[in-house]
Amino acid sequence: MEKGGKKWIIRGNDKLKVGTENTIRGLLEVMHSNLNVNDERPIIPLGHGDPSPFTCFRTTHIVDDALNTAIQSAKFNSYPPPAGIPTARRSIAEHLSRDLPYKLSTEDVFLTSGCRQAIEIITTVLACPGGNILIPKPGYPHYDACAVFHNLEVRHFDLLPEKAWEVDVDAVEALADENTVAIVIINPGNPCGNVYTYEHLKKVAETAKRLGIPVIADEVYSHLTFGSNPFVPMGVFGSIVPIFTLGSISKRWIVPGLRLGWLVITDPSGFLKDTEIVSLIKQCLNMTTSPACIIQGALPQILENTKEDFFENIISLLRQAVDICYEEIKEIACITLLPKPGGSMFLMVKLNTVLLEDISDDMDFCFKLAKEESVIVLPGAVLGLENWLRITFSIDLASLKDGLQRMKMFCRRHAKQQ
Ligand SMILES: *Cc1c(COP(=O)(O)O)cnc(C)c1O
Repeated sequence: MEKGGKKWIIRGNDKLKVGTENTIRGLLEVMHSNLNVNDERPIIPLGHGDPSPFTCFRTTHIVDDALNTAIQSAKFNSYPPPAGIPTARRSIAEHLSRDLPYKLSTEDVFLTSGCRQAIEIITTVLACPGGNILIPKPGYPHYDACAVFHNLEVRHFDLLPEKAWEVDVDAVEALADENTVAIVIINPGNPCGNVYTYEHLKKVAETAKRLGIPVIADEVYSHLTFGSNPFVPMGVFGSIVPIFTLGSISKRWIVPGLRLGWLVITDPSGFLKDTEIVSLIKQCLNMTTSPACIIQGALPQILENTKEDFFENIISLLRQAVDICYEEIKEIACITLLPKPGGSMFLMVKLNTVLLEDISDDMDFCFKLAKEESVIVLPGAVLGLENWLRITFSIDLASLKDGLQRMKMFCRRHAKQQ
């Protein structure tokens, strides 16, 4: 230390350390830095869910046109209001109302920077002292990170693989108490690819009503379904229990980089009327920043003009991708796919390490697979399920097949000799 110099002591927020290490991004970064640089084959990324780099998943020209029009109008260079510009809020209300038995209003909709910010806002708003929140396991780790950051105790309920990843409703009843602030439902599901039936969602809504807690319905994969169950929005049960519907254009329109999402209050019975929740949401939006005004300006055109054939093409690609997964995984002894996913861009497979020679668990499997085959998949441990793997299938079909075949070779090479 120089004479007269002072030792710097700049302290940071310890809470930020909690979420980062366990996040998907953090782990995928480590796996990437650990790849074999001498492998000349392309890296097959089955670990994270952004299909936008693949030409077959290119968004519709409607998005480009809407953005161009918004820019050229010069109407969106000002600060937007904290809840979003009214035309954009109205277009979301109309868009979502098409699937509901009643009409949402402009006032029910708050624009956010992607669905992630909607998660951040609703957890901030509900984080009362001593509170706890019910989160699915396996789930989407951002819920856990936000809850921990705001001192909300996380209580996990299981999704049941043998029941098409339905919510263990009895466990939910047992976990909740008078300090429970909400239950999170992700449908269609990441990471399980579940698509819940009307009956199951109704059962969840009735359970939440009995417990007196609102439902946070993460519907970022709404309408991305390709199995036998159609998408049913949780908002259909809004007259039973208040619903916070979270969504975005990131997944369905394949533009996660545009960062446009929403938090929508679905409460036709007015359960929230006498509570502070709506005013707290507004306060919270006052404290953060809104999505770029240009994107807000383009939103009505994007929602209104996108043609069905764009969605149909994406869904057909995802359906073919799942079929490829199914066929390839059937031939790999140490992993099992059950049940076949019906929506989203992810599936979970169970890893049977007993059949493998020198692989101790899912983490070990993923690191060795990355090193030896340049294929990235996500260990279930980061999602709360050890010895499962999450596979993203929203990549071009040839690479998907290549990746799964490399995985098959890897598993054969490491199989225990009979
Ligand atoms: C991708 C994803 C999000 C985040 O969506 P953005 O709009 O990109 O912020 C939220 N929830 C789930 C379950 C997701 O898979």
